[in-house]
Amino acid sequence: VDFELSTEQAAFAESVRAWVERECPKAEARRLESREHEYPVDLWAKMAAAGFPGVGLPEEAGGQGGGLFEQVLLQRELARSLAGLTWMWGITAFCAKAVWRFGVDDLRHTLVPSVAAGTARLAMAVTEAGGGTDILGALRTSATRTQDGWRLSGEKMWSTGALAADHLLVLARTSVVEGRPDKGLTMFLVPNPADGLEVRPIPKLGMRALSSCVVAMDAVAVPDDRVLGTVDGGWRDIMSVIDTERVLLAALCCGIIDGVLEDALAYATDRHAFGRPIGQFQAIQHHLADIAMWRAQSELVTYHAAWLAAEGRPFGLEADIAKVVTSEHAVAAADLGLQILGGMGYSLDTDMQRYWRDARLFRIGPVTNEVTRSLIARQLGMPRAW
Ligand SMILES: Cc1cc2nc3c(=O)[nH]c(=O)nc-3n(C[C@H](O)[C@H](O)[C@H](O)COP(=O)(O)OP(=O)(O)OC[C@H]3O[C@@H](n4cnc5c(N)ncnc54)[C@H](O)[C@@H]3O)c2cc1C
Repeated sequence: VDFELSTEQAAFAESVRAWVERECPKAEARRLESREHEYPVDLWAKMAAAGFPGVGLPEEAGGQGGGLFEQVLLQRELARSLAGLTWMWGITAFCAKAVWRFGVDDLRHTLVPSVAAGTARLAMAVTEAGGGTDILGALRTSATRTQDGWRLSGEKMWSTGALAADHLLVLARTSVVEGRPDKGLTMFLVPNPADGLEVRPIPKLGMRALSSCVVAMDAVAVPDDRVLGTVDGGWRDIMSVIDTERVLLAALCCGIIDGVLEDALAYATDRHAFGRPIGQFQAIQHHLADIAMWRAQSELVTYHAAWLAAEGRPFGLEADIAKVVTSEHAVAAADLGLQILGGMGYSLDTDMQRYWRDARLFRIGPVTNEVTRSLIARQLGMPRAW
């Protein structure tokens, strides 16, 4: 057993940390997050200049190379300051992976390098108003064949980053197979803007700069070369794209806990009550110890899942476990962090409330912890819960 990062991995994580301190420290992240629906274009440009959008993309795609473990380290270090805003990188990374894996050659070799260079942004539009968990039961968006392509109609919900994205990855029904809602779905890359396409932001609790949107489509024309993967085989294809999403989400939660612990320790040292730093009180020390224990557990489960995936071994159960453990620890850690900061924890001038608001999402999306627990139970041999 080896718990050490390689020299290159440790150097990479350190370089990202230095970049964050220089380009996007917590005060800047707080300022960006508070600007509702104003996508942080400058931050994205700086990330692109640093080569971050290309991490995990092959060099022939204009990427930086590296694999899931490098993406995990990047995600964690960014999230220490950016918290949920880090997802602006995650979403684009998944959509780029879909285009690289399933797009026609011309699209792969033009769009993916643009993503890696930071000149193109992508967003994912899968969930619908009828429900995200039972998405196969709720999905109403349809695509009908035309002479030279397809027409898409329907309404997606919660598409994060859609307002600022150049293309939206949309899952739509292309045929009906009785009793098999997982069949007959297709992935499309819809240009944004387009005739018949309307994107409306939804006010929300956290990650406010990164708008999550309703995407309404009324007969939007999509040419054949913007189909990703197999017509009618989109469910299987998209599942293979987001197989690592839970691992990266877990890394994001580890980063949030890093940020929480750092701020809680600093406050416990600086803040005085009854003539001594509050960090001398046993109750505060126990709070700090709890956060540190949650961080240690989160790191282990995340790195274990990432290591299995990087080794090419099955990692589904470990990814599910990492998603639930880290998202629940991140919320609990930010909540205790808020308590340690007292009134200042509730102030918008400190970061604890931001960590709490952002972490809270990850018990819900991209898949809820109730359902993830059922998936874990099923992998233990229990029957399907639905
Ligand atoms: C801020 C934000 C950003 C998002 N970004 C994106 C995005 O970029 N792209 C995208 O496509 N989607 C996105 N989503 C959607 C997200 O994936 C869904 O919110 C999530 O899948 C849950 O779906 P739902 O909100 O419809 O809840 P529902 O599915 O309606 O669930 C409601 C409750 O019922 C419970 N429940 C449902 N079924 C079961 C069951 N079988 N067993 C036990 N409990 C059950 C759930 O756990 C939950 O507690 C985002 C959501 C949010 C809030």
